[in-house]
Amino acid sequence: MNYSELTKEQLYKLLETREEGLKTKEVEERISKYGQNVLSTEKQKSNLAMFFSEFKDLMIIILIASSIISFILSYINKESYIDSIIIIAIVLLNAILGFLQEKKADKAIDSLKKIQKTKVKVRRNNKIYVIDSDYIVKGDIILLEAGDIVCADARIIKSTALKIDESSLTGESFPVEKTEEIIKNNNDNTNIIFSGTNVVYGKCEAIVYETGKNTQFGKIAESLNESEIETTPLQKRINEISKFLSFLISIIILCMLVLGIIKGIKLKEIIMLSISLAVAAIPEGLPAIITIILSIGMTELAKKKAIVRKLSSVETLGSTEVICSDKTGTITKNQMVVREIYFDGKIQNVSEIDQNNALFKGMILNNDSSKNESEYIGDSTEIALIKCLEEIVNVEEIKKNQKRIDEIPFDSERKMMSTINKDNDKINIYTKGSFDSVIERCKYIFENNRVLKLTKKKKDELIKIENEESNKAYRVLAFAYKSLEKDYISNDLESDLIFVGMTCMIDPPRDDIKESIELCKMAGIKPIMITGDSLCTAKAIAREIGILEDDSAAIVGTELDKLNFDDLKEKVLDYSVYARVSPINKLDIVKAIKENQKLVAMTGDGVNDAPALKSADIGVGMGITGTEVSKNVSDIVLSDDSFSSIVTAIGEGRRIFDNIRNVLVYLLTGNITEVLIVFIGMLFGIEIFFPIQLLYINLITDSIPAISLAFEKEEKNIMKRKIRNLNDTFFTPFLISKICISSILKTISIMLIYIINLRLYDVNIATTSAFLTLILLEIIYSYNCRNLKQTIINKNIFDNKVLNRSILISLIMQIIIFTTPIKQIFKISSLNVEQVCSCILVVIVIFIINELLKKIQTRIFKD
Ligand code: ATP
Repeated sequence: MNYSELTKEQLYKLLETREEGLKTKEVEERISKYGQNVLSTEKQKSNLAMFFSEFKDLMIIILIASSIISFILSYINKESYIDSIIIIAIVLLNAILGFLQEKKADKAIDSLKKIQKTKVKVRRNNKIYVIDSDYIVKGDIILLEAGDIVCADARIIKSTALKIDESSLTGESFPVEKTEEIIKNNNDNTNIIFSGTNVVYGKCEAIVYETGKNTQFGKIAESLNESEIETTPLQKRINEISKFLSFLISIIILCMLVLGIIKGIKLKEIIMLSISLAVAAIPEGLPAIITIILSIGMTELAKKKAIVRKLSSVETLGSTEVICSDKTGTITKNQMVVREIYFDGKIQNVSEIDQNNALFKGMILNNDSSKNESEYIGDSTEIALIKCLEEIVNVEEIKKNQKRIDEIPFDSERKMMSTINKDNDKINIYTKGSFDSVIERCKYIFENNRVLKLTKKKKDELIKIENEESNKAYRVLAFAYKSLEKDYISNDLESDLIFVGMTCMIDPPRDDIKESIELCKMAGIKPIMITGDSLCTAKAIAREIGILEDDSAAIVGTELDKLNFDDLKEKVLDYSVYARVSPINKLDIVKAIKENQKLVAMTGDGVNDAPALKSADIGVGMGITGTEVSKNVSDIVLSDDSFSSIVTAIGEGRRIFDNIRNVLVYLLTGNITEVLIVFIGMLFGIEIFFPIQLLYINLITDSIPAISLAFEKEEKNIMKRKIRNLNDTFFTPFLISKICISSILKTISIMLIYIINLRLYDVNIATTSAFLTLILLEIIYSYNCRNLKQTIINKNIFDNKVLNRSILISLIMQIIIFTTPIKQIFKISSLNVEQVCSCILVVIVIFIINELLKKIQTRIFKD
């Protein structure tokens, strides 16, 4: 069907809809008939596939192969199969644990995806609703404006200066103009908008004729593999380290095998020894654990109102050095209230003004907000204008009697908008916008019931009043109008206007903003306010909340335009307030800050903010007021639009990074200790740990506390710390010293236990004691790793409830293994109280030494 050539009435008939939109019942029927407006749901890995992917790991493959060989050898030598069975059992248990964790991580990511659904304005039952685009159906009338994403294929029925960016479909980077005009006998589609494209300018109403998979975009998207999951820089580094270690160990094992065979050692023994080493040395759990910590971090961040769209930003967040923030809605509450009105030469109360005036008409007619029962939809500035007049004049009647026939939409570059309305046989243009933009276009002024020439004197007087009002932190909007001829021509309509008045509205700063600004400063982060508002308004608010200490640190966009990029680069960090900026200024500011090697987070809400958001190290979108396009290019979206949430998220980023380091130290220390012991054993020809024991410790005992460490709360002075540079090496001397010293300490203590027990008792007691000591060391060491620098004896040792729980489970497991017949499988002997106590004593001593060492290590190694 060629929808381009149909009239509006034909479209209504064909798609069984009407101007008022669909009825609720029709929508329900169509959803059940055609399904939701979603692209083919990403092919989800089935549970079985997910479970089997746990076996892809090199380490697991080595284990399975060894257990098969060991099985065959046991068969040939007519020995017990128990070793092979246990290896398989442990591998299985590990796979189940891994599977459960992966599922949890997936679920977290899925639920985050759900909150990120594209929103769209739709007319149904003659009312306007903002709904998730998933629920759009054929026949729906959608209303789009600059910054919206087109969520279905639709035919335009009404449009104003509409420009669409179709680059996602055509690759063409210039926006294309579209209108509602009918196209006959032509394959042109300038009256069609396609799903996946976005509105760059203007607005339109359109009837949806295709949704979901059947849209043009849906057809392409199906052939694309969308579900590629991003790997963060840190994940990549850890994967590399992990792969390198696995490779190294595999070569060593191969050499040992060859050497053993040449020396004529029994094959099964060599294999078991190789397994021991492989199990001890390969940090198989690392990459998986990093992914899990990051996804747990994402969930925590979402709870704190920062929805992460790009996993890598979780890592970068903590190193933020500059936050560039919009004013309206982010620093302020976005609850505009008109406080003062300038009309007829003086500031007046709304109720004192005669109702039938061009200022009130401008406030009502040049206004895109709408009301659904008691709820207002639209821009807070415009809602404030309506709310201020609602009780005095009949808003709906004025709107009905003076229908809008044309308009020049608002854009943050021009900082103004105009509408053309028909009043019986008269046509008027109403303009509203920033004072500077509007006054420039005025030649006359309405005063004392007359239209007078706007003299220089009068203009200066108005500028003075505007300045005074802005200094009170008011947003000042100016209003103008003029009559048009019936056959007016569309260009240069906004000239020779009649100035009619000003509205001054307040948007109070958010309650928690002062505290957050202070916190930023304490953390070494520079907060910068970037606003479209006037310099005076911006300065007044910035001063009040503590962003601006010295008035010279504020600058306007026009001054910025005069600087070349090198000058801007030099001065960019000297300013704390940028007022009357254009989106291009924003982009320049971000680039200049980045040139200073500073990591910058930038907020943005408009369609034109997309380049600046993309260019910033962390683009921060606004969940409530942000356009869909700006949200789509952001790394993080704030669900409450609040500046304080950015600061909280930075703290959270630091916490997550700390926890990754803690887990890494914990796991690598365990691995190195085991390697050292296996190595010492090999040197002296003794088997201190059996492969099964190592397997058990690595795959089960270690991984449970490791994940619990991800739930560690932030340390007390996390925001007072020096900012970590992202380019700094991950394995700092401090971290390496931590891993090495703790591994050596653990190795010495285990060897000591082994030797003493060997002297006093026998080899079985010695190996069992060594095994118990290693298990207890691992368990207790997880508490040391809750904080690598500050001793946890100062804070409440048992603060991390998740860790406590997993340690409890782990202890119960150990009691079962050490006291029930299972112990035979692990080749464990019975220990008496004295022997157990000596192990515990050693573990406590090591715990205390590790705690004491923290002070010394932090002093020696600056980290
Ligand atoms: P901030 O940049 O602090 O978040 P903002 O996003 O509201 O503020 P813009 O939307 O770029 O800034 O607005 C810039 C200026 O345009 C405002 O200071 C105001 O004077 C004017 N303005 C804002 N909204 C409208 C509107 N709906 N109609 C006409 N003019 C407007």
